[in-house]
Amino acid sequence: HLKIGIVGLPNVGKSTLFNTLTKLAIPAENFPFCTIEPNEARVNVPDERFEWLCQLFKPKSEVSAFLEIHDIAGLVRGAHQGQGLGNSFLSHIRAVDGIFHVLRAFDDPDIIHVDDIIDPVRDLDTITEELRLKDIEFMERKVEDLEKSMKRSNDKQLKIELELCMKVKSWLEEGKDVRVGEWKTADIEILNTFQLLTAKPVVYLVNMTEKDYQRKKNKFLAKIHAWVQEHGGGSIIPFSGVLERNLADMPPDEAAKYCEENNVQSALTKIIKTGFAAINLIYFFTAGPDEVKCWQIRRLTKAPQAAGAIHTDFEKGFICAEVMKFEDLKELGSESAVKAAGKYKQEGKTYVVQDADIIFFKFNV
Ligand code: GDP
Repeated sequence: HLKIGIVGLPNVGKSTLFNTLTKLAIPAENFPFCTIEPNEARVNVPDERFEWLCQLFKPKSEVSAFLEIHDIAGLVRGAHQGQGLGNSFLSHIRAVDGIFHVLRAFDDPDIIHVDDIIDPVRDLDTITEELRLKDIEFMERKVEDLEKSMKRSNDKQLKIELELCMKVKSWLEEGKDVRVGEWKTADIEILNTFQLLTAKPVVYLVNMTEKDYQRKKNKFLAKIHAWVQEHGGGSIIPFSGVLERNLADMPPDEAAKYCEENNVQSALTKIIKTGFAAINLIYFFTAGPDEVKCWQIRRLTKAPQAAGAIHTDFEKGFICAEVMKFEDLKELGSESAVKAAGKYKQEGKTYVVQDADIIFFKFNV
């Protein structure tokens, strides 16, 4: 399954963010068939539509979607050459599907910065350069391997791969990330097998003082925006690590009161939802009196494969998907009203499941 990793230089607020998220995490016993390491958390994806369905059906069991987040500590300059936790750090990034890049935009004389002066744009350059250098090293090895293989065989596929690898290598050497390039579909299939670090989607999380966060102003934000635009775009979410930690430590009613009095809101919901979408996840619902459940799938999944997320038999014996749009159910109030309005649809094998579809699968056993 897909997951997102928290990445950033030391002392930018990664652990503070991760620990706060951990407090909201779904208990590990809810995932009986997986081990969850201390640096991993699975957090609920908040969703009003899901809440609404639970209100309607009052089911015995409620299962929301979750985002798996890994805290990946230890990046410093020179990591690609094994500095700091170097290579193990980078292999952890290789294993995730997207990146929360935490940037420090708060001043605090008590908390040192590895490069002394606070400058999140320099930090962006430092980190992306490490990731790029690692990708270059990977592509160099790939090119060497392919050249060797080509001496033994003149398989056409090897030649195609070698040409692509040389192209990607020079792209990276020009200082560009793989995610920014426009690659042919066939090339993307090959590229996906490499799990390149600079190909992963990034969400930029800008950690600032509570005051800056509250007034939505920070002297670095404009420069960060400009940098991100120049580097292929991506979501930028301001937050305050200290505020999030304090809110998580308060009882819910006290936290709500604090937010109202100080005119602030936690950024965690936005962070979780944006991260979930960034790694190309969506979910559909199954809903009834027994259970309301979110089933997470990759964007662009077709109906039979979506059915397979529930059970492999559903995919093998797939007949059709009966689909209601959440908005139709909400507007009309009940399944029978949706049917009467002609908005309860039967969809076949080629149907691409949409976010928040409410689905009942029919299948042969
Ligand atoms: P990491 O090394 O990136 O994991 O950073 P930590 O989360 O351990 O944070 C480093 C230090 O910065 C800790 O002492 C945190 O309490 C502090 N810190 C984290 N977020 C904020 C923030 O928003 N404002 C301030 N002033 N300090 C913060």
